[in-house]
Amino acid sequence: MGKEYFLKVALREAKRAFEKGEVPVGAIIVKEGEIISKAHNSVEELKDPTAHAEMLAIKEACRRLNTKYLEGCELYVTLEPCIMCSYALVLSRIEKVIFSALDKKHGGVVSVFNILDEPTLNHRVKWEYYPLEEASELLSEFFKKLRNNII
Ligand SMILES: [Zn+2]
Repeated sequence: MGKEYFLKVALREAKRAFEKGEVPVGAIIVKEGEIISKAHNSVEELKDPTAHAEMLAIKEACRRLNTKYLEGCELYVTLEPCIMCSYALVLSRIEKVIFSALDKKHGGVVSVFNILDEPTLNHRVKWEYYPLEEASELLSEFFKKLRNNII
């Protein structure tokens, strides 16, 4: 199973967030080809500003693997991680992050900040932007509805 497959699983999570009126971002963590956690943005539901999809996916993966480090794991997420999530990925020692839309306003990987390329950090997370039109479309649709007060 390739990147596109995993990004589409993450996209299904993003759609679940959309249905709940959350900013539609979904994330999954994969280890050796197996999905070990899935999450979607739950800031509204949990009343928690840090409940981004990536944070929830990291926590769930650590619980499942009973470890604080996610070495050898990859995170697939529908939107470029923000600064908080990028640094959480560094702390988790995850191997790589793959994202399918850019966040021009808050991106922590390449669009605004470059947290993962920071040479002073003691763990280097590899990253890849793998564009998926559906991922950006879902976000545009959400913000359009928000502007028109449909959500
Ligand atoms: Zn985030």
